[in-house]
Amino acid sequence: MEELQRGIYREVVPLKGNPLKTMNIYGVQSLGETMIIDTGFDQEEIKEEFFKFLETLRARPQSTILFITHLHSDHNGLANAFVEWGGQIVTSKEDGALSQEMVDSDGSYWTWLKTNAKYQGFKPGELDLNDHPGFKYRPKAAFPFKVVEPGDKFGVGDFEFQVIDESGHTPGMVGLYDEKRKILFAGDMVLDEITPNISFWGPYMDNSLGAYIENLNKIDKMEVDILYPSHRKDITDISVRIRELKDHHSARLYEVLQILRDRDTSTVEDVASRMHWDIDVEAWEDFPKSQKWFAAGEAQAHLEFLRAVYYAEGATDDRGIYYYFLTPRGKKVDKLEIK
Ligand SMILES: [Zn+2]
Repeated sequence: MEELQRGIYREVVPLKGNPLKTMNIYGVQSLGETMIIDTGFDQEEIKEEFFKFLETLRARPQSTILFITHLHSDHNGLANAFVEWGGQIVTSKEDGALSQEMVDSDGSYWTWLKTNAKYQGFKPGELDLNDHPGFKYRPKAAFPFKVVEPGDKFGVGDFEFQVIDESGHTPGMVGLYDEKRKILFAGDMVLDEITPNISFWGPYMDNSLGAYIENLNKIDKMEVDILYPSHRKDITDISVRIRELKDHHSARLYEVLQILRDRDTSTVEDVASRMHWDIDVEAWEDFPKSQKWFAAGEAQAHLEFLRAVYYAEGATDDRGIYYYFLTPRGKKVDKLEIK
């Protein structure tokens, strides 16, 4: 455990076999009250470290809350263990509700994800849920939680936090801003060295990339001296990193637009297989299955962004498969920069 500032602590836990490598779990403590931010995967080793962290902080269940930034299993995996310990969970309405839906492997979320893979152009059996880390490490039982909404304020001892809308990475990701100390606990919103994954959320959120960019711009205007992310190092040059992330997505959008230019119509898998990926395999066929899944989600988020700005259009055929193509306006685009 490391004390970052008076009353703010961090425990770094390993995420074995995951490209994210490690996870930052934060603790805020003041006047006998404790808040923990996120949990790590539901894995024995992480569970031990998580509860050792609570013990070192001498946190007591009746005065400790767990703030879950979003529904990904590296953030909420130990939700049930925390509730059994006796603490109270706080999270957003959208991600709280969707986490409960994700408990059931035959529930509407996983059914949608499997159906969507077919509509993206994958063949039956090409993607298997058991290859999906979000499925493997998810909370396996429903858990009670209290809802916070963006704009809400709440205290932990003499800290006062405001809940910040960070939707885009997930439908209801939320951050915590301390205006007095000018710090932001940002979940997976802005990360150093790695680009937060922005995926397609179908019925759960429209134009996720558009929402993400809008929220990046909002954070850019806030006074933040230190951003505490859920993975990797603290960020102090926040505007510089936000500009880099927007440039990354501008280049990605332009790449997708160029791919659409080559053919009359393209499926999501067509587009994903022809995008450039930072991965040590040559051919699309050799991608690990879970990586294909993420790649397709990311490709479709970019396609939906192009659709929202009328550069592309989408249609489905009689089997439900999505086809994307450029609009006359999109065909004329020779430069793309997100503001
Ligand atoms: Zn995440």
